Amino acid sequence: MIKHTPRTQHAPQTQRTQHTEHTPRIQHAQYTPKRYGAQRTVKNTADKEPIVRFCPLGGFEEVGRNCVFFEYQNEIIVVDVGIQFPEEETPGIDFIIPNVACLEPKKRNIKAIILTHGHYDHIHALPYLIEKLGNPIIYTGLLTKALVEKRFQEFPNLPKLKFQLVKNGDKFKLSEHFNVEFFDLGHTIPDEMGIILDTPIGNVVHFGDFRVERNIKGEAIKTEVFERLGKVDIHSVFLDSTNADVLGTSISEEAVENELEKLFKNAPGRTIITTFASLIDRIAILFKIAERTGKKIALNGRSVKSNVEIAKRLGYIKNPRGLEIPIEEISKYPDNKIVILTTGGQGEPNSGLIRIANGEHRNMRFKSQDNVIFSSSVVPGNERSIQTLQDNISRQVNEIYNYKFLDIHSSGHANKADLTLVMKMLAKTKFFVPANAYYFKRKSCAQTAWSVGIPKTNTPLVDNGQICELTKNDFKLTNERVPVNYVMVDGLGVGDVEEVVLRDRLMLAEEGMVVVIATIDRQTGKLLKNPDIISRGFILLKESKTLLDDIRNKLKNVLIRIPFNQKPDPDYIKGLIRDQIGQLLYIKTKRRPMILPVLIEL
Ligand SMILES: [Zn+2]
Repeated sequence: MIKHTPRTQHAPQTQRTQHTEHTPRIQHAQYTPKRYGAQRTVKNTADKEPIVRFCPLGGFEEVGRNCVFFEYQNEIIVVDVGIQFPEEETPGIDFIIPNVACLEPKKRNIKAIILTHGHYDHIHALPYLIEKLGNPIIYTGLLTKALVEKRFQEFPNLPKLKFQLVKNGDKFKLSEHFNVEFFDLGHTIPDEMGIILDTPIGNVVHFGDFRVERNIKGEAIKTEVFERLGKVDIHSVFLDSTNADVLGTSISEEAVENELEKLFKNAPGRTIITTFASLIDRIAILFKIAERTGKKIALNGRSVKSNVEIAKRLGYIKNPRGLEIPIEEISKYPDNKIVILTTGGQGEPNSGLIRIANGEHRNMRFKSQDNVIFSSSVVPGNERSIQTLQDNISRQVNEIYNYKFLDIHSSGHANKADLTLVMKMLAKTKFFVPANAYYFKRKSCAQTAWSVGIPKTNTPLVDNGQICELTKNDFKLTNERVPVNYVMVDGLGVGDVEEVVLRDRLMLAEEGMVVVIATIDRQTGKLLKNPDIISRGFILLKESKTLLDDIRNKLKNVLIRIPFNQKPDPDYIKGLIRDQIGQLLYIKTKRRPMILPVLIEL
């Protein structure tokens, strides 16, 4: 059981907490910086001091693949095992997962995996890593469990998962040295859980992703959880920094609801709305508004259907009889009685919305009286595809609404002012650790902390893979690193996309390819016919006769020099062709396409 009685070691804080009531600038629990040096000089006592090791395996230099662990002696607790969506530098990759190579040899020590919530960037790497992590007990909320189970249906050969369901207020022993307590936090999906991990060096709090809920007037609500945490001695708190660089507060979900209700009511025809399939809270609101405005709601897209199915089963989405209809039946109702909730708000290829926009959908086309609502923010990197999609839709419908000109999207992450509020409330916390985002965003979070009087030394900016040593009064960033390079998932294969494959993809994308096909006599090596040259993504060879001739001549010259009576290795011949033709093309075109030599021996 966790006891939140003040620890004697933290005695000076009482004084500081009182102090804060009289001054707007909060004085947070501080440690004395000289300890860094002091620890070395009093090595004998330092050795006896408990040290909890902390390390992020992902999520500290990106938004995604969240995964951290805490280690004390032979016990390890892992928090979140998420994926990251691919980037420009990783073409053709489905997603990126955390590298758990440093944990694999110690998998027997892993006592628990805690999942804070059911978003892909916190849970979706589990099928690929659960065996490497020794299949320990997974502690999580009801909806998260259901989403993980749904995901595992795609991997029938994996061992059965061991779950322990947790809810707000649950407190128990995880292992000999770790206790845990779970608490509810606001995000955009039900069952988002923060944790208080009671460790040998004190309480460590992890918020997962969170936001500060606001009412319609913009006032913070449901702040009891922060008030309560403010009374607890906390060694360090890990703060979601995703929106740390966004000024102001997050928009109230109530305001979003009001705007959406107005749009639903005033729609001249059908309302087509897109949001992330994982924003279960938002989807629940859409069901409510559809019911209040007397409309039918139809779902389009696999992920939205599957998530709504789970959320309805667990009671997170209320679906009174007759509210939801199959998309095949929308034409049975007047257009202004129809709401279609679809995937594809990020312009993803093959998504529900793209298929409607391109006239490829089996059940519907856009109509001129339709309104389309994008109730989601733009994920960085998707700007172009969203713009193209909106242009396309704009030509076909009455109106497009997006979050830029209406409050129809509220983010699930605390903005700068929200973080300020929380930091002030957590008066008995020593270290504020910016987490779950790029360095830039985490530094914004640290700056916010400095602005409320938290010393710079108490806002450690940890890199992925950097081992930190937490002692009662210290949060030490060490020089020890564990591997955190990308592990890529391509199709169903894990980590089989090596860097060389990626380099090939980039080369093909940038320079194109040239295939040189030489048909030769097996015995003499003589060319039996004029070589075939095929190119893709390189210059149009058909139109450059001289270059074609140059390649053929070069190839003949290369082959003549090879002593075929000595039975040369075909790979050697191919390598030679690749080098020589590559050089020629570079001299002639200043480009380096991929050369694929094909040798047909007859
Ligand atoms: Zn999330």
